[in-house]
Amino acid sequence: MINQFNANAQLFSDAAARWLTQHHKRVTAVVASLLLGGGGGAFAVASLAPDAADLPVREMIETVQPLTLPDYSQDVAPAFVLYRTDTTRASDTADTLLKRLGVDDQEAATFLRNNDSARQILLGRIGRQVTVETLSDQRLSKLTARWSADTDGQFVRLVIERIGNRFTSRTETAPLRANSQLASGTIESSLFAATDEARIPDAVAVQLAEIFSGDVDFRRSLRKGDRFSVVYETLEGDGEPLRTGRVLSAEFVNAGKAFQAMWFAEPGSGQTAGNTQADYSSNKGGYYTLDGRSLRRAFLSSPVEFSRISSGFSMRFHPVLKEMRAHLGTDFAASTGTPARTVGDGVVTFSGVQNGYGNVVFIKHHGNTETVYAHLSKLLVRQGDSVSQGQTIGLVGATGWATGPHLHFEVRANGVQQDPMKLAQQSETIPVAAAAKSAFERAAQQTKVVLAAATAIQTTSAQ
Ligand SMILES: [Zn+2]
Repeated sequence: MINQFNANAQLFSDAAARWLTQHHKRVTAVVASLLLGGGGGAFAVASLAPDAADLPVREMIETVQPLTLPDYSQDVAPAFVLYRTDTTRASDTADTLLKRLGVDDQEAATFLRNNDSARQILLGRIGRQVTVETLSDQRLSKLTARWSADTDGQFVRLVIERIGNRFTSRTETAPLRANSQLASGTIESSLFAATDEARIPDAVAVQLAEIFSGDVDFRRSLRKGDRFSVVYETLEGDGEPLRTGRVLSAEFVNAGKAFQAMWFAEPGSGQTAGNTQADYSSNKGGYYTLDGRSLRRAFLSSPVEFSRISSGFSMRFHPVLKEMRAHLGTDFAASTGTPARTVGDGVVTFSGVQNGYGNVVFIKHHGNTETVYAHLSKLLVRQGDSVSQGQTIGLVGATGWATGPHLHFEVRANGVQQDPMKLAQQSETIPVAAAAKSAFERAAQQTKVVLAAATAIQTTSAQ
């Protein structure tokens, strides 16, 4: 069973006042007591979406609040006003959009067609969420759409409103508000199937797989019945999630063994807003086990970021295995153009074409370890370049002896082939700095409570 609830949090910071929580929703007893049990401790979190780089880091204090996601699809009081929400499609005209929203109003359709901002903002766009309020005769009373531009920590709100027999439109901007979401799921076929089911954004699924990649082989060893809980940030406009932020904490149970992780930045580390995509190597914050070991390793277990293509990869027949030679190394399913990244710091010893490998990069790492990235469509490094973990060294392709696009990857230690997963697991972990220990422990305590709440909900609903 899948559960999801909104763990709305009150956010406090230097500029605390404007972050005061707006929504007060009911909470079920079990979660309330579990969260209350945590005592409302504070933990440091980073902000947020990849492009919201100018948002400051904030101290977040969890409060006991809501469980339910706002559901605008249901008709809600007050009487005679109906609310509906839908998402714009590329093919939308004023008529088709309004029709899907349950609006029957020629004047409104005419206004949408002729009003510049309405036309630009709503028509011919994909995936923009639109909410309407209609009168009891299906005429439009108010239309609102919200979205977030890429960079500025703000969102834009378009409001079209009926005033008498006329319509007006206006666009406004307001700051995005950080919120946290708690969701959980169970693996039936693949990680993405489970996150889709739980309505968890892809960006969160990818982060989950990356965070636990040193412990769980998401490509080969997921099992039916594996389960996870995750707390992640969303950036919201008027309570509507507009962008996805960073995973704050998570638990993954693989084959009965539980792994937990938490984002932690040392207090006063001068942390600025992070890049959620793959900023796992930043020393300004990172993921830790709850007993204080960094999940950052000297080697990543995979040279490509986890994706929909890799999800469920091991559970299906893998077409690339039709390669016509004795196979040393590991093939990672990925489409042409996917960034191939070096799994560790090192120096490029070869970047060019070799028979069979096609475009290939060899990287030498410390400790006599060498990695090989083959069949690339594009080479992005040169012999002699120093590279750091996670850096893109080329793009996936199908050059050389490859029957289709994929990344052929080899790890050699003292010339002997190694399992990349083993290499990642063997590399050392770094503990939390002594000075940050007490802050870490408070945060870990809070995380335990939240993850326990998630597990409790999951278990309850599965019965
Ligand atoms: Zn191969």
